[in-house]
Amino acid sequence: MEYISTRGKIGKIGFIEAFMMGLADDGGLLVPSEIPVISEATLKEWQSLSYQELVFAIFSHYTNGEIPEADLKAMIAASYGTFRHPEVTPVRRIRDDLYLLELFHGPTFAFKDIALQFMGQFYSYVANQTGKKIHILGATSGDTGASAIEGVKGKEGIKICILHPTGKVSKVQELQMTTVQDDNVLNLSVEGNFDDCQRMIKELFADLDFKSANHLAAINSINFVRILAQTVYYFYSYFQVSKATGKWEPVNFSVPTGNFGDIFAGYVAKRMGLPVGKLILATNENNILERFIHEGVYMPGDFRMTYSPSMDIQVASNFERYLYYVLDENAAEVERLMNQFKIEGEISIPEGAHLKVQAEFAAHGVGGQECLDTISDYQAKHDYLLDPHTACGVSAADRCSEEGEMTIALATAHPAKFDEAIRLCGIEQKFPAEIRVLFEKPQRQTFVDGKLEDVTKELVQFYNA
Ligand SMILES: *Cc1c(COP(=O)(O)O)cnc(C)c1O
Repeated sequence: MEYISTRGKIGKIGFIEAFMMGLADDGGLLVPSEIPVISEATLKEWQSLSYQELVFAIFSHYTNGEIPEADLKAMIAASYGTFRHPEVTPVRRIRDDLYLLELFHGPTFAFKDIALQFMGQFYSYVANQTGKKIHILGATSGDTGASAIEGVKGKEGIKICILHPTGKVSKVQELQMTTVQDDNVLNLSVEGNFDDCQRMIKELFADLDFKSANHLAAINSINFVRILAQTVYYFYSYFQVSKATGKWEPVNFSVPTGNFGDIFAGYVAKRMGLPVGKLILATNENNILERFIHEGVYMPGDFRMTYSPSMDIQVASNFERYLYYVLDENAAEVERLMNQFKIEGEISIPEGAHLKVQAEFAAHGVGGQECLDTISDYQAKHDYLLDPHTACGVSAADRCSEEGEMTIALATAHPAKFDEAIRLCGIEQKFPAEIRVLFEKPQRQTFVDGKLEDVTKELVQFYNA
């Protein structure tokens, strides 16, 4: 398996090169040259695999033979050995037609750990193999930063800098990032919102001289490896639910969405042959993607702060990957539309493509009160405390699933990370010990204004120290 760019000017490159490139050098996003299709017979064999074995089976289709089996297995074991649940991503039955896929049993209590624990191991592996410096640079709406730092703190040959928007992440998210004391970690607290942070990161990666002089590496979902690691739990949860119900039928997945990374992983799983029914795209009031699904128009609006800060995103960087597939892998057309988007701030897709979108996705934008009501409601009826992101997904699942359909809703974070919203529901929760201790620790972060040149100055200083 080799990798090409959605804009057609890179490729074909290998797996490790694609991982290290992050954003494609032509400004597009890297995708596999073809998505492997797994037969139903093989899928049924995969049902008996452990989570770690399944990671290995799926990755083996994508690694282009570049990582020796034993090395890949060791990385997988180290990545998922940090999880608190033996199944890594267990499912939980809520009703006959609704299961929750718990993705928050990793070190930082959000689903980002699943890909970023692996990517931390993988960066370390590449640093050891090549002796090259690796300087990870990322933007976060809260959870990616904590997970990525956790994945590489203290690791030899690696430095990590994370930009987060000042005051727009939850208290626990901020503490998870900023209480790490290792010198290979720099937290930049940036005046602005997540879109500002992500735009600056994309500009720095697009400056190819800066990128290579500073050894930049990406952990945001612009990196295809992150998407790949996230496809695994779609398969794993499908298998667990299928075993529980004795059925092998299409299942809907409801996905709380911000950057379109997680739900795109579900789309890849579907193209690989997993019996996926509808992909239900749940947003909060930052609902550009809901509008895209319903109207075929992609147009960011005004940024809103909500109870689900990790989804407070208007410009979804992974959208371009989906656009590539929905336009039948026509890279020239993707490039034309993305250029148009840059100039006009808005694009529409052709009617035929929009019909395809509507056949594959349903969407619902969840308002603030609806989010809180869902948390209260599920606590009362099912004695299950949803975090506000998961609540958006569950609410969208209830809205978009039809009678008789089975839906798996992705539980993307533990409620303790978002106590601000939980308290508004009048619910007092108990914090896990790992989170309680954060409040006692000193914080390290550097405040910068929203200007690219100031961010660049801090970065260069940190990387050259
Ligand atoms: C990052 C995040 C999301 C959104 O995922 P995307 O891949 O950006 O669409 C949803 N919920 C939580 C808790 C997150 O941290």
